[in-house]
Amino acid sequence: MSNNTKHPHEHRNRQAPARNRAIETVLTHQGRKPGDQFGVVNTPVYRASTVLYPDLKTLKNRSQPYVYGRRGTPSSKSVEDVITTLEGGKGSKLAPSGVSAISCALMSVLASGDELLISDSAYEPTRMLADGYLARMGVSTRYFDPRIGGEIVRMIGKNTRAIMLESPGSLTFELNDIPAISSAVEGREISIIVDNTWGTPLYYNPLALGANIVVHAGTKMFVGHSDAMFGTITCDTAHWPALEETHGLLGLCAAPDDCFLAARGLRTLALRMKEHSTRSIKMAQWLEGQDIVQEVLHPGLTSHPDHDIFVRDFRGAGSLFSFCLPRANQEALAAMLDNMELFGMGYSWGGFESLILPIDLKKKRTSTVWPNDHQIIRIHIGLEDFGELQDDIAAGIARYKAAM
Ligand SMILES: *Cc1c(COP(=O)(O)O)cnc(C)c1O
Repeated sequence: MSNNTKHPHEHRNRQAPARNRAIETVLTHQGRKPGDQFGVVNTPVYRASTVLYPDLKTLKNRSQPYVYGRRGTPSSKSVEDVITTLEGGKGSKLAPSGVSAISCALMSVLASGDELLISDSAYEPTRMLADGYLARMGVSTRYFDPRIGGEIVRMIGKNTRAIMLESPGSLTFELNDIPAISSAVEGREISIIVDNTWGTPLYYNPLALGANIVVHAGTKMFVGHSDAMFGTITCDTAHWPALEETHGLLGLCAAPDDCFLAARGLRTLALRMKEHSTRSIKMAQWLEGQDIVQEVLHPGLTSHPDHDIFVRDFRGAGSLFSFCLPRANQEALAAMLDNMELFGMGYSWGGFESLILPIDLKKKRTSTVWPNDHQIIRIHIGLEDFGELQDDIAAGIARYKAAM
């Protein structure tokens, strides 16, 4: 742009004082700079590898906001700013998937000879990373009962450096007591990492409860439309230098197009989460009343063993939970799942559309024994008409019962 072209929207670049704004306002305004984009409301997709420098001095000092595509663009910054504000961290880094966000977080705090403790309810790929790659790099891992709370102190050894939590676990939905675990390790050099994909910062704030690093499979609720892979890592001040360095060394970055989709998803996160929360609790309550249902695994239910923690630490519920049917043959399961009209069968969750998945816990738990052999069915409650979703599940359960 030539010198005499005054940027027409310069004066409209209002930086909302984000930290004291309500979440809904942050989601609506944070990370956007229309004044830098000719007034365009959303930060456009900045596809970039090379970023040019105007002169040698700037090149030497790297004294411009963006230096190279992998190191960030306005598209990535627009998302980082929102997540950092919502999680209340020092800063955030983006990754191409939730798994890469988890790997990066763990690698930023662990070295050869260290020990990692993981909640037994954690996401399976997290366990595979620990038992495979991290083991080869000289990091040992032990698993613990998700409900261990302050008793975790008994497991702490002189090499324990990190504790990986997922609250609730995305298959069986136990909650981790972050404040109790955090108090138990206080004063030691142990980092607490939490996968907050279920609650989102709208309903759950691990850093405020005593955790040090929060990761998200942004693929789920942030993107919100089942059409992009995304991950985020946010941490406190003490962990920021190591996170920044590790993220850079691993060469991680999220594609600008996916940053755009995440930024767009975040604008409606509050609206979607409110709807998901109400519906998942309502559906869980209804399922609890069905004869054939043995148990409903949803921390928002008063019957759930961790409901007190839910009431204390969460402001709402995620879209995902499980319910348990009596174990039956494969034909009964197929009769139910193959004929669902609205619930699709597929991995992932967090989109606008409802999903259903049979869960097999074998190999997914090692420190605790799941107390029964029920058939666990996991569902993500989407945004379809609630009554029609209910009818779909009722018909599915009836098919299961008939084929048992
Ligand atoms: C899906 C998921 C992940 C992994 O995210 P990807 O984007 O699929 O790599 C991590 N944690 C939880 C709780 C998830 O549901």
